[in-house]
Amino acid sequence: MLECKVFAANDLRVVDVETPSPGPGEVLIRLGAAGICGSDMHYFFHGAVGSFRIREPLTPGHEASGTVAAVGEGVTRVRPGQRIAINPSRACGQCAGCREGRENLCSNMRFLGSASVFPHMQGMFREYFTMPQQQCVPVDSDVSMQEIAMSEPLSVALHSVHRAGDLLGKSVLITGSGTIGCMMVIAARLAGARSITVTDVVDHPLDVARQVGADRTVRTDQLAQGTTLASIAGEPDVAFEVSGAPQALISCLETVRRGGIIVQVGTLPVDGMHLPANLVMQREIDLRGSFRFGHVFEHAVQAIASRRVDVRPVISASHSLADAQAAMHLARDKTRSMKVHLVPA
Ligand SMILES: [Zn+2]
Ligand SMILES: [Zn+2]
Repeated sequence: MLECKVFAANDLRVVDVETPSPGPGEVLIRLGAAGICGSDMHYFFHGAVGSFRIREPLTPGHEASGTVAAVGEGVTRVRPGQRIAINPSRACGQCAGCREGRENLCSNMRFLGSASVFPHMQGMFREYFTMPQQQCVPVDSDVSMQEIAMSEPLSVALHSVHRAGDLLGKSVLITGSGTIGCMMVIAARLAGARSITVTDVVDHPLDVARQVGADRTVRTDQLAQGTTLASIAGEPDVAFEVSGAPQALISCLETVRRGGIIVQVGTLPVDGMHLPANLVMQREIDLRGSFRFGHVFEHAVQAIASRRVDVRPVISASHSLADAQAAMHLARDKTRSMKVHLVPA
């Protein structure tokens, strides 16, 4: 079977390895589709994501769907032939974070396709892999494997909405219109937001944002001299900073209404940034963080499986695992693609 391994920056190899077999409580899964995320691209192009550096060959991939190929002893949650979404979070269930229901803050988290721990947690850019049954969520509908694989990015967005609190009737600003920005649009609509403005510096992602329900899109790099984002979008009640660009966080601080809420979803530069922090004080802004997701994963799977939300506009292309390198380059090109998936040959 084929498996993608990143050995170092710009060194991705597709290798032929033996198909694993499931142990007790484990499920053998044949890959359906695996989305290429920003972090996978960081491992490939830079050999690291923030401070998580590759120290041994890493198989990326944490957004996947598949079909159950076989089950180990004691597996009751899924059966062979069933289609599933895979939850990439493996929290310990014991630490303080887990016990207060915030398992995304687990101090012993093992997240698939991540170099945050050593040995690294190997991900799902491979034809077959085994997974504890608790991480397998059955899907009983005929939506595509690519749609099911969007459960993970949708979970990130749903969690961010939870962090913001009630969005019913609120005006929302989303800075950054990549996959997560577009999933934020979907999640904010689901939560009853009154109006949604999305910003970016490239046209194509903003086109997609409108397709999934943004009311207004703004090219922040094309604002006329002296024009502020607030003069176009009004002062939003809640802002989600998704781009990871320092300037975008600053514009959220300047644009959100007094007493408003900002949720930081994007990954800002590791070295930090200049932050006009007095705005937080003077305008009484609530600045909150949002990291991965917790129990919302199953809700995301259900929303997609029932097409209560339609993620299809966000999906751009599928490439075979053997073409993983080309797929990484395509995924990086925001002028023509958004979510690119890897599928078995
Ligand atoms: Zn991701
Ligand atoms: Zn824990």
